[in-house]
Parts: sequence; C-alpha cells; structure tokens
Amino acid sequence: MPLQAPLRASRKAASVVIVNTGDGKGKSTAAFGTALRAVARGWKVCVIQFVKSDRWKVGERDSAMRLGVEWWTIGDGFTWDSTDMERTEAIAREAWRVAQQKIRSGDYGLVVLDEVTYPMNWGWIPAEEVSAVVAGRPASVNVIATGRDAPPQLIAVADTVTEMRKQKHAFDRGIRAIRGIDF
Ligand code: ATP
Ligand code: MG
Repeated sequence: MPLQAPLRASRKAASVVIVNTGDGKGKSTAAFGTALRAVARGWKVCVIQFVKSDRWKVGERDSAMRLGVEWWTIGDGFTWDSTDMERTEAIAREAWRVAQQKIRSGDYGLVVLDEVTYPMNWGWIPAEEVSAVVAGRPASVNVIATGRDAPPQLIAVADTVTEMRKQKHAFDRGIRAIRGIDF
C-alpha cells in the first residue's frame, strides 16, 4: 500500500520557532547541529548562551566562530559593580538585551537562545517578554531556544517542541563530562 502523502506539509513558513527541552542530553547539540545547516545556506547565525558554566570555553564556540557564527557567552562585554547574585541576574538580563537586539534586527536567519529557560524560570527575564519578542520577530528570523522545563509561554509560541527524555546518562554512573563529547 502506498504511503499516504502528508496533508499538512504544503505551506512554507517564513521562519519557525523551535524549543529543545527535557532532561535528556541533546538540547544544545541539536541546536548547534541546526546552526550548521543554517551556515550551509549562507544565513547569518547568532548564538547567545545564557548560563555560565565551569566549562565556560565550550568547544562548539571555537568551531562556530570558525564558521562565521556570532557567539555571545553570558558576560561578554559586560561590566558591573554589585554583589554576586545581583551580578549573575544582571548579566542574564544583559544577555537578553543583546538577544532581543539580534532578533529584532532581522539580520539573522537563525538566532539560538541556548539555556534561556533557566533565567526565565528563575524569574530573571520575564517569560512573557521573551515569548512576545520571539512571536513578534521579523518574519525571516528562525529562533531555537534550549533548556530544561521550557515555560508554557515559550511552548505556546513555538512551532516545534522536542522534549529530550533521559533514558540513561553516563553522568549517573559517575562518568564525568568528556571534552569533545559534552563540551
Ligand atoms: P548537550 O549540550 O550535550 O546537548 P543538553 O544541552 O541537552 O546537552 P544541558 O543540561 O544543557 O543539556 O547539559 C549541560 C551539560 O550536562 C552537557 O555537558 C551535557 O552533556 C550534560 N548533560 C545533559 N543531560 C544530562 C543529564 N540528564 N544528566 C547529566 N548530565 C547531562
Ligand atoms: Mg544545553
């Protein structure tokens, strides 16, 4: 029997919003994989990383910059003089300010908001605002947001939402993050 042709695959969207969420591995790497595709099509790509980790210098940043991807890590170009928590929050807000500019500029074919769900869930950047800016983006700008526990407002404005569900993770057996695989 022939496969039925998909009925709904006839519209071409100018752009989409993708959310990679869940507790399994693969949210950020899937976003960067899509960035590789975008580069191949000659699009301008910008990645904004919202969470500072101990693995600050992730390998994907080097690779992406070699490909001409613009890469903002939280804290880049930001000065402050306040206490630590205030500082962390202020840096997240600053990253969001940069992200908004990038999205609104219309210059980018793809903007990746990596780990953006965390500052949203911590109440540092309003979920309503992020969702509204993403929903109101210039028509040509695709957006990918990653991070666990994507808030409902973000899911509501997304076209594609994938929940990475952990079946196993090496970390649970005490295996540390591996350079070249995890960062
Ligand atoms: P990746 O960047 O590998 O795609 P991710 O974006 O899905 O992972 P994050 O929570 O952002 O997941 O992961 C940050 C780091 O923690 C990465 O080094 C990742 O490999 C690791 N990691 C991802 N999922 C888990 C998990 N369920 N348990 C432990 N460590 C994890
Ligand atoms: Mg991630």
